Amino acid sequence: MENSKILIRNAAQIVTCHGDKARRGAEMSDLGVIEDGAVAMSDGVITHVGPTEEVLRNIHAEDYLEIRAENQAVLPGFVDSHTHFIFGGYREEEFSWRLRGDSYMSIMERGGGIVNTMKATRESDFDTLWDRGEERLDELFSMGVTTVEGKSGYGLDLQTELVQLRVMSDLNESHPMDVVSTFLGAHAVPPEFAGRTDDYVDYMIEEVLPRFKLKVHADEIVPFGGAELAASLKCVSADHLLHISDTGIKRLARAGVVATLLPLTAFSLNEPYAPARKMIDAGCAVALASDLNPGSCFSASIPMMIALACIYMKMTPEEAVTALTINGAAAVGRASEIGSISVGKRADVILLKYPSYKFLPYHVGMNLVDTVIKDGELYMM
Ligand code: ZN
Repeated sequence: MENSKILIRNAAQIVTCHGDKARRGAEMSDLGVIEDGAVAMSDGVITHVGPTEEVLRNIHAEDYLEIRAENQAVLPGFVDSHTHFIFGGYREEEFSWRLRGDSYMSIMERGGGIVNTMKATRESDFDTLWDRGEERLDELFSMGVTTVEGKSGYGLDLQTELVQLRVMSDLNESHPMDVVSTFLGAHAVPPEFAGRTDDYVDYMIEEVLPRFKLKVHADEIVPFGGAELAASLKCVSADHLLHISDTGIKRLARAGVVATLLPLTAFSLNEPYAPARKMIDAGCAVALASDLNPGSCFSASIPMMIALACIYMKMTPEEAVTALTINGAAAVGRASEIGSISVGKRADVILLKYPSYKFLPYHVGMNLVDTVIKDGELYMM
């Protein structure tokens, strides 16, 4: 439904997450909540935020479509800053092998792993990748995600990587959600370069690698100095970090690189979670993301992710909300446009079915999103 002007008024809470850069450490607890609050938006941009009485004094309420939100919390649209949502095929068979306890190496030997997805992605046409991608976006959108990052990385050759990136830029145009594409080079070594890893890296550097803001998959399997590397390269984010070292934590905190944590992946793999509490206490800016992908984590469940972050990673509900809003926005380099309910930012706002953001981890794994407003347009869920 299209409305050029929308007013949300008398909201139980406007959770503003105010600001235009990543929040670090103790700052992550400050959500800037306004009780009995209002948000006015016009032509896709937020124009007024504040106590309802004050906002009503500054606008002509009769020009607006009014939403009374007495029993609802209003938050910025969520930013899922790390996914791999464009891929061909599924790997349900190999998931059942993993549940049986088969090793990753033995699964690889039977044709599983990233190479399995690579083959299916190379064999998929544009329309198939697009249709599956749209379904996954719809899923995320229904859970309040208004901006999603998506990586290539399943083609492993120039042509298929470009198809993945084209599908994402096309979906960015046609789906209400914003899709931020990232080129993921050297995700794995493809069969045509087997035994020639150096040649593959040369091929990536010389023929494939365009210039992007850098994001790093770091310290996922063993401590490898990935966080330290991300800090010295001034990456926008360092992701995974299950095995980050104490030095890595300090360096990320000091460099202000967003640490993107992916609890659904740790859960799916039955692995230990990244040390979120330690990282926030050390002053890091933490973001949370789904990591939706065909192998290690086939889940787009934002509600489940929030519950895992609070229950197992000891993040507070306030920190989890910051991690999914302003810090997620910072992790995709867009904290000045999205990620908070602030005047001048895009009108990306969600309304929950309950009057407080504290219901998010409390109702474990349940979708509490009632309404999504994206670029000032209203979508009832
Ligand atoms: Zn990933």
